[in-house]
Amino acid sequence: MCPSTLSPIAIPDAALPESARRLRTEVRAFLDEERARGTALGRPDSWLAGWDPGFSRRLAERGWVGMALPTEYGGAGRGFLERYVVIEELLAAGAPVSAHWVSDRQAGPSVLQHGTEEQRRFFLPRIAAGQCFFSIGMSEKSSGSDLASVHTRAERTSDGWRLTGTKMWTGGAHVNDYAIVLARTDEAEDKHTGLSQFIVDLRAPGVRIEPIRLMSGEHRFNAFHLDGVDVPDGMLLGRRGDGWKQVTGELAFERSGPERYLSTFPLLVSLLSELEHRSVTAGQLTQVGLLTARLHSVRRLSLGVAAALNAGASPDTQAALVKDLGTRLEGTLVDTVRSILPTRADPHATPGSHAELLAFALLHSPGYTLRGGTNEILRGIITRGLEQR
Ligand SMILES: Cc1cc2nc3c(=O)[nH]c(=O)nc-3n(C[C@H](O)[C@H](O)[C@H](O)COP(=O)(O)OP(=O)(O)OC[C@H]3O[C@@H](n4cnc5c(N)ncnc54)[C@H](O)[C@@H]3O)c2cc1C
Repeated sequence: MCPSTLSPIAIPDAALPESARRLRTEVRAFLDEERARGTALGRPDSWLAGWDPGFSRRLAERGWVGMALPTEYGGAGRGFLERYVVIEELLAAGAPVSAHWVSDRQAGPSVLQHGTEEQRRFFLPRIAAGQCFFSIGMSEKSSGSDLASVHTRAERTSDGWRLTGTKMWTGGAHVNDYAIVLARTDEAEDKHTGLSQFIVDLRAPGVRIEPIRLMSGEHRFNAFHLDGVDVPDGMLLGRRGDGWKQVTGELAFERSGPERYLSTFPLLVSLLSELEHRSVTAGQLTQVGLLTARLHSVRRLSLGVAAALNAGASPDTQAALVKDLGTRLEGTLVDTVRSILPTRADPHATPGSHAELLAFALLHSPGYTLRGGTNEILRGIITRGLEQR
């Protein structure tokens, strides 16, 4: 299609570079080693629940964390398409990647794009080495979908800022090093202005972390209280007042990756290995085929968004579209796997068994279409994108 005929929500049909094939083989060999160590457990939702800093560091030693960051800042300079291959292999294998996930996906690109030279030189090499882990401090109790209404305030002090407020759903705040916090620095009639982003040390005085448990009982999320936390001037990320523009740009990185359709993929792998030992009906095979076709289609779209990011575009609308399609598919996958092979989900069954993986995927499922922006909101973004035609 020629560029002049592209609609505002067109997604390019991307091809992976030749080097990606070699890379995929290398990642698979690495994952075989990790399976032998007992660390790559084939679990659903491993980007959210698989916290293993040792695994992240070993991955970083291969150059597979901060892959898209420039070499002068310790990254591999390999771009978003090669990064794509690595992360899709990791997610498909259910590898424990959550320690470095936000740093690699979001914080790194954000510091590269908006940070000062000093921030880049400090944070990026540490991110690429798998030694510095970030949380996202956007949501609040009444400011999830309506992010521009955040109440967390940053007040000017003699040499920096004092932050006060409470962030909700802060993944990994109890184990990570820093959070990028969206706060109000200036009163303005338009609620989208007067917001700024700060890099906050999660061990700073005044930071209080309170667990929010998932239905499964796991502690992954927190209420993250900032009780007058002093943040030096050098930790303002980007320009004062540009917070809204910065977070909306960041969301394209957050919304379109393979984690938005591969979270429950390990359950499909588990189903296939269960079916190997049974006689399979044509109906069961058809359902597997339909699921695989949908996965393939969403993957092509997601890859297209990665290609657009690689080319320096800001495919926010396209990322919203992929996330809506992908996260609905994640839920459908769980339901379809259950209908193909009815199994009693049991969180206490043998770890890694089909019954246990099914329970894990089910207990995590309410979050699929919420986290990173709800599907209702995404459809609003897509509609606005279409109206620009
Ligand atoms: C598992 C999980 C992990 C998360 N991790 C993080 C994290 O690490 N850091 C972080 O900052 N946040 C995180 N979040 C927060 C997440 O981004 C928010 O939950 C999400 O943006 C929705 O906001 P809310 O929960 O306040 O719901 P609300 O905004 O209160 O929405 C409730 C419902 O109303 C609907 N709704 C709201 N407004 C409209 C509208 N205008 N039109 C139509 N429907 C509407 C929503 O779609 C939703 O269904 C996480 C959430 C989950 C579930």
